[in-house]
Amino acid sequence: MLPDIYTNNEKAKLKKLGIRNIFDLFLHFPTKYQDKTRIDNINDLNTDEFYQIQGEITFANVSYRPRKNLIVVIEDSTGSIQLRFLNFYPSQVKQLILGEKIRAYGAVKSKSLIKEMIHPEYEVVKESTTIQKYLTPVYPLVSGVTQKALIKMIKKSFKYVEENIEFEDHFPSLNEQRKFPDLVNAFTALHFPKKDHLTDHMYRDKIAYDELLAHQLFFRGLYHQKKNFQAKTIKSNDKVCQSFISSLKFDLTIDQKNSYKEIMTDLGKSAPMNRLLQGDVGCGKTIVATLAALQTIMNGFQVAFMAPTEILAEQHFVNLKEWLEPLKISVAFLSGSVSKKDKDNIYTHISQGDIDILVGTHALIQDQVRFKSLALYVIDEQHRFGVEQRISMRARNLIDKKYQAHQLMMSATPIPRTLSMSYFADMDISTIRKLPPGRQKIKTKLISDSRRKEFLSVIKQHCEKGDQIYWVCPLIEESETLQLETVQNTFKELELFFTGIKIGLIHGRMKPSEKENIMQKFKNKNLQILVATTVIEVGVDVPNATMMIIENAERMGLSQLHQLRGRVGRGSRESVCILFYGKRLSSLAKERLKVIYDNTDGFKISEEDLKLRGPGEFLGLKQSGLPSLKIADINKDQYLLNIAKNDAEDLIKKKDKGIKPHLQRWISNYLEITRA
Ligand code: ADP
Ligand code: MG
Repeated sequence: MLPDIYTNNEKAKLKKLGIRNIFDLFLHFPTKYQDKTRIDNINDLNTDEFYQIQGEITFANVSYRPRKNLIVVIEDSTGSIQLRFLNFYPSQVKQLILGEKIRAYGAVKSKSLIKEMIHPEYEVVKESTTIQKYLTPVYPLVSGVTQKALIKMIKKSFKYVEENIEFEDHFPSLNEQRKFPDLVNAFTALHFPKKDHLTDHMYRDKIAYDELLAHQLFFRGLYHQKKNFQAKTIKSNDKVCQSFISSLKFDLTIDQKNSYKEIMTDLGKSAPMNRLLQGDVGCGKTIVATLAALQTIMNGFQVAFMAPTEILAEQHFVNLKEWLEPLKISVAFLSGSVSKKDKDNIYTHISQGDIDILVGTHALIQDQVRFKSLALYVIDEQHRFGVEQRISMRARNLIDKKYQAHQLMMSATPIPRTLSMSYFADMDISTIRKLPPGRQKIKTKLISDSRRKEFLSVIKQHCEKGDQIYWVCPLIEESETLQLETVQNTFKELELFFTGIKIGLIHGRMKPSEKENIMQKFKNKNLQILVATTVIEVGVDVPNATMMIIENAERMGLSQLHQLRGRVGRGSRESVCILFYGKRLSSLAKERLKVIYDNTDGFKISEEDLKLRGPGEFLGLKQSGLPSLKIADINKDQYLLNIAKNDAEDLIKKKDKGIKPHLQRWISNYLEITRA
């Protein structure tokens, strides 16, 4: 709420800037400062730098050739300079007369032998006019709001805050310990700094720290809050587990075993697990989750296994059936496309406990789905659900009032460390670092569209050798119709070119049964080329496919490209990923493609992606209403993030009284999110 110190006119201006209260206004930082704390000698000015000067008008005239100009010359004891105005009011001409004293601020230009300032800021001054004590802030503006108006409002706000003790520090002893200034001092130093404030990062760091602390209190608060719930304890049954593992065609890697152990430790507790299992695409997360599911079921409980797309959910369903049905475990599938009759059937059996594991899309979190004894929730490719969904999903009571289900999330977009410390700080994390042995390195080729034709022939040769190919057309966010058109056109083009080669088409608009049909054909090698939208991005597993072709690769996110590339190289044969790119690439696009070309490690790619896009884009946080960082930067402020994390832990442990007001100050909508 804005206090009534502002006029209605000012309030309207603040609204335009998206400012809802004084705190917001204080967070509206200047992007730079002008130094009007000194007056320089006209003789000492260097070209192209900004100065404040003062002198007496010795010449003032409006000339009309080559165009209308107001020329004013001022002189101090060291020299003279010309001020030139191209747009001016008659009132200015009247004001700028011989003998008056002018103080001007602007950039110095050289025009032949004359020094001049074009359109400087100026004021008519007297000998007694004081000079600014502080640097002058320059704020980011929107139309209808001027620098002057903003400065005035911010000055008013400081006065108000001084009189009303509005922004006391919530954790004064921490402040002292960290040798930070108090909040109001920090704000003052950022809005109206003295010169030496600029080189001292302490003021800005104080505010970034406060923000990071709020962030940590929020996410770590969620973490501890979750631990206050009860969950069913799952006892590990080594015999079942061993015989299942020995029935697999491969041995688990060390990372898989360790992750599994971490998960089982959590499941053995009476507080709900909230764990993320992360690892590069193809590292084998599914089997680890399956083991956890198996143990849960052996304890007499049910499991929900959720994936973001129909295709992926279907695939999990097929795998889980194959693995678990021999053990007399009943596996069922639920998605929006399941017929009403079958749905009703599933609802009944789920509530009676006849279904042990229910696999599906987010149809699983509908109200009608009432498990008899759900104890574990597996969410695959959780990054596709977004942080906001993740938190609200978790907050939903999945079993009954008393118990919450354990939650295991999986992500093939590895979470960079800074993110796992911030936006993922409400979870424990297990990591599979290494891929199973024997995987082929995927060759990546960057090919300009101008060489597309010539490459089609190369690809044809691969087809003739029997290679299977994914052919991905990019997501066109602006228009689903356009996207559909693009895949269909590509499909037609390829059918014409690759005569005699079986080509399939798959896209998001198709019915799930059609999609499944096509995928099955591709898996069974009845199709050689699969033209697809990015629906195949996550999880799809066809080991025989050895070539991934991506059109307009420059339009896709790095993690997305990496995911797509990870669809090949799953069998024992050498695999290739060809990235076609459009003719005119921005330098950022080039940089991004280079990252994909240079790196095969998903962790490295994630980090680069985060650096290039920032956390908001990386996590799809932009419109989520979740606390995004305004001041702090998790990449640059790692040191602050570390101390904020430790401090938040201590404060939570102590149940510090400052936590609530601090969250309210920084994340006013946090309560709504946690209540969802
Ligand atoms: P992701 O982690 O990307 O979800 P998946 O779980 O789909 O990966 O596993 C990719 C492929 O690797 C599957 O075909 C799976 O059966 C296989 N796989 C999993 N673990 C191992 C292992 N330890 N050794 C060999 N292959 C494995
Ligand atoms: Mg997977």
